[in-house]
Amino acid sequence: MKAVQYRSAGAAPEVVTVPDPEPGPGQVLLKVAAAGVCHSDIAVMSWPADQIPFPLPLTLGHEGVGTVAALGDGVDGFAVGDSVAVYGPWGCGTCVNCAEGKENYCLRAKELGIMPPGLGAPGAMAEYMIVDDPRHLVPIGDLDPVKTVPLTDAGLTPYHAIVRSLAKLVPGSTAVVIGTGGLGHVAIQLLRAMTAARVIALDVTEDKLALARTVGAHEAVLSDEKAAARVRELTGGLGAHVVLDFVGAPPTVRTAGAVARVDGDVTIVGIGGGALPVGFGTLPYGANVCAPYWGSRKELAEVLDLAHAGAVDVHVETYSLDEAPLAYERLHEGRINGRAVILPNG
Ligand code: NAD
Ligand code: ZN
Ligand code: ZN
Repeated sequence: MKAVQYRSAGAAPEVVTVPDPEPGPGQVLLKVAAAGVCHSDIAVMSWPADQIPFPLPLTLGHEGVGTVAALGDGVDGFAVGDSVAVYGPWGCGTCVNCAEGKENYCLRAKELGIMPPGLGAPGAMAEYMIVDDPRHLVPIGDLDPVKTVPLTDAGLTPYHAIVRSLAKLVPGSTAVVIGTGGLGHVAIQLLRAMTAARVIALDVTEDKLALARTVGAHEAVLSDEKAAARVRELTGGLGAHVVLDFVGAPPTVRTAGAVARVDGDVTIVGIGGGALPVGFGTLPYGANVCAPYWGSRKELAEVLDLAHAGAVDVHVETYSLDEAPLAYERLHEGRINGRAVILPNG
């Protein structure tokens, strides 16, 4: 079968032919309908060889939706042909965090060498993929695979970040979303669906800000050195109750800290290498800073429920498997509006 692989440190992803996978006992084989293109892959592909935490070559794609093609021995609860989304942050399934469905915070994954598909295990950018356990599948029913696949990361990750701050997002509150790309444009929709907060979006180009407005941002502000002052002005000088940074670079974490309100939450989701110092006097009194990772199994089911209710509409650009390297190139250049989705089976 054809697959998109990251084959050697620093090289661009390549479309190659690999052996057809077969499900072992307890595993599920999916025929992949759609695979999302995440900016994290670009970060991973920029790491030097000695910092890559998994062996190469690696089949990319940590957002996957497909149909069940075969069940390994002992698997029940799914039938061939079922349409399913893949829960990506695989854990051990038995530690206390996994027992609560928080496999993104598995206590033993590292020790056991368990890695997510597309970030260590073979991923979704291939005609077929292996899912290690049926508990990592959520049925999607009649949802469109293409518009649903980004929800497994670009939806789940912002959802997890928002849930931590829900109690602060009361009527009259303000949420700031920095970076309105794949994750950010879904975050705006989730904030609008789940809270009464006023949403202020920041990005660097007019077309990204236009998308932010289209998906529900009340205000869209150019992310430059004047952005923090502008957000303060829009919040009557008080700042935002919750700031979600989907860039995480040094200038954006600075902005995030500068627009937070007393007792506000700053959540750094982007992995752009920025760090926000926390210490008495560096931030408004009581401010909380957190850098979360992905989301729980329960939260993925909840995000998909929101999709069934029509509360989120992911903006997608589709590409064939052969065009996947081009999609990565465009994402790197900031030329994707919404999420790029690869269609491995056409
Ligand atoms: P994306 O490229 O689709 O979106 C990033 C957006 O940020 C773009 O719209 C870009 O124009 C904008 N941007 C760039 N510089 C900016 C600046 N200075 N100010 C404001 N906006 C700016 O990327 P994505 O796939 O949505 O991923 C976003 C980030 O989240 C990446 O760093 C990715 O690695 C990270 N991520 C983290 C997790 C996690 O679990 N913590 C999960 C998924 C993705
Ligand atoms: Zn991702
Ligand atoms: Zn675990």
